[in-house]
Amino acid sequence: MSILVLNCGSSSIKFSIYARRPTEGPELQVLCHGEYEGIGGGERHFAAADAEGNPLDTGDYGAGTDNLTHTKALDYLLAWLQDQDYMDNLEATGHRVVHGGKDFSAPVRIDSSVLKRLEALIPLAPLHQPHNLAAIRILAERYPEFLQIACFDTAFHACQAPVARRYALPRELTDAGIQRYGFHGLSYDYLSRRLRTLSPAAGNARVIIAHLGNGASMCALRGSESQATSMGFTALEGLPMGTRCGSLDPGVILYLQQSRGMKPTAISDLLYRRSGLLGVSGISNDMRTLLASGDPRAKDAIDMFVYRINRELGSLAAALGGVDALVFSGGIGEHSPVIRARVCELAGWLGLRLDPAANDRSSSRIDAKDSAVAVWVIPTNEELMIASYVNERLGQ
Ligand code: ADP
Repeated sequence: MSILVLNCGSSSIKFSIYARRPTEGPELQVLCHGEYEGIGGGERHFAAADAEGNPLDTGDYGAGTDNLTHTKALDYLLAWLQDQDYMDNLEATGHRVVHGGKDFSAPVRIDSSVLKRLEALIPLAPLHQPHNLAAIRILAERYPEFLQIACFDTAFHACQAPVARRYALPRELTDAGIQRYGFHGLSYDYLSRRLRTLSPAAGNARVIIAHLGNGASMCALRGSESQATSMGFTALEGLPMGTRCGSLDPGVILYLQQSRGMKPTAISDLLYRRSGLLGVSGISNDMRTLLASGDPRAKDAIDMFVYRINRELGSLAAALGGVDALVFSGGIGEHSPVIRARVCELAGWLGLRLDPAANDRSSSRIDAKDSAVAVWVIPTNEELMIASYVNERLGQ
């Protein structure tokens, strides 16, 4: 029997199928994974690969459709899974859901009342939540017999102390749920478990994880539990990202409204889609493009990204009272020796020393022998984390 994992973004649907309890090897074994890109516009592309990464199919599913919606893309995907004989063995679907709000601090079985409560959180994660929920609705319509489990990016941080979660706002607003939640929790949970496997001592250590992808955040952990994180009420706070601004004086938003007459939707578009690396460089949100560019504006964007990571590192190290290990992950953290080297150079004040050759090879351990802080590069796997949650639930 198997589990389908779905991660529906604004323009893509990522999926994986995991076999449960295969006869040999680990408890969960990926059978295939893939991605549907170009939903809602842009170049349409469907790719799927088997466990070894061999391409299974790269056809243009949905050719001839003018507007590829999430519904259509999911229909094509479900038909493809049916063609490949995956649907008959399916027991459950695990969905990445970005925001669980105050109510959900663990994976939850989805029914209509859960769905309604998750819909109320759409304004808190406008880039992701509507698409996460659309997939749940479509699957419930087409396959009402499937168990559907929502796995939240916020849940991992629910154990944080109130002082780490509170904004300095009047109490009634905090009580109404205006507080820091934090995100990328599926990634942090996976990475902290993986770090414990690689280095059992790290289980009790003071660890900072930098998840540096198109969305980027950092998390301070002690005893593998989240103590503080850079993102807050929404996934806008903290580090500057591909297109998101990161932390910003709220006075800027008041100014844009009051003096520039900007409407909330225009401000939302500015902060979520036109800021960050893209906004500062005016060139791209893609770190590879910026690193390859000779344009000084690309350099400004990269300098700002590295500088702000170092500032956040200081803040999180203070929250932990020191740091024993730093972990890099996400597309940039896993694949860019240049960014890792620059971050580590600025982190010299922590006694952190890099092994340049190990860093260039993107080895899993990249600190020098005399470093006071262990430095790791660990690829994240949010899909496997979701499958593990669903597997645990099915085993109950
Ligand atoms: P998402 O948050 O969408 O999951 P990813 O974790 O896939 O994003 O990260 C995407 C980012 O990783 C992009 O900015 C991309 O340029 C960057 N990236 C991927 N490979 C490299 C590389 N070799 N060098 C630098 N940046 C890279």
